Amino acid sequence: MVNLSEMSWIDVQDYLQNNDTAILPIGSIEQHGPHAPIGTDFFIAEAASKKVGDNTNILVLPIIPISVSEHHRQFTGTLWVEPSIFRSYIKSIILSAASHGLKKFVIINGHGGNTPSLLEISEDLRRHNEIFVCIITAFPPKLDGHAGKDETSIILYLKPELINEDKIIDSVQNKYLGSISFTKAQRIDPAEFGWDTIDLSESGVYGGAGKIIRTTEATVDRGEEIFNKHIKDISEFLIKIKNIKIDELLPKKHK
Ligand SMILES: [Zn+2]
Repeated sequence: MVNLSEMSWIDVQDYLQNNDTAILPIGSIEQHGPHAPIGTDFFIAEAASKKVGDNTNILVLPIIPISVSEHHRQFTGTLWVEPSIFRSYIKSIILSAASHGLKKFVIINGHGGNTPSLLEISEDLRRHNEIFVCIITAFPPKLDGHAGKDETSIILYLKPELINEDKIIDSVQNKYLGSISFTKAQRIDPAEFGWDTIDLSESGVYGGAGKIIRTTEATVDRGEEIFNKHIKDISEFLIKIKNIKIDELLPKKHK
């Protein structure tokens, strides 16, 4: 058993005799199209962290449910916190965990919108607190889009009762913002800008300018295959993090 919330303080003390690594799962509560639950990223981060914890015997901290999702604000039910509050909250949690002896943290992050904030925390804690924080996405790399075939397949595998199959549709992401064309998922050629999901898609499903997102092709089998492959890859990486000494992961001293 490696879920912190299910352990006694004596259990945690025993764990810390020989270990200084923990997993911190972070989810989000944001729309995932007309067919998938608002907690999609939460469920994926939670399931990934539990499985990886079981595979590696690394302590799993409780999942943080709500994060940086304001760009989904026009879709009912989405919740978010300001990035500055998110950063200070996550940093405090890590510092509290570190006060007991943990030194290496792997964030299993269910939501791409959190990544810039998490990198900022990682830099800060590594430079100023001698704490190593790395960030891994809970979902496999190269998904076909937000609430598309791949993500929907994973939820069909993890929580089939939460997918409304009658509401699954194929969608096409918008090609233009005004008269300027989109490139990739969220850029207007050639610039980044502060987009909201509604700029890209009425349904909330998106994944590339003008691209057809074939959510109707989602299957349980695909979800099982891509999710478990990713879990295997993450678990192998986490064993390396677990076994490496913290000193090897910290910055060198000033010249
Ligand atoms: Zn998602």
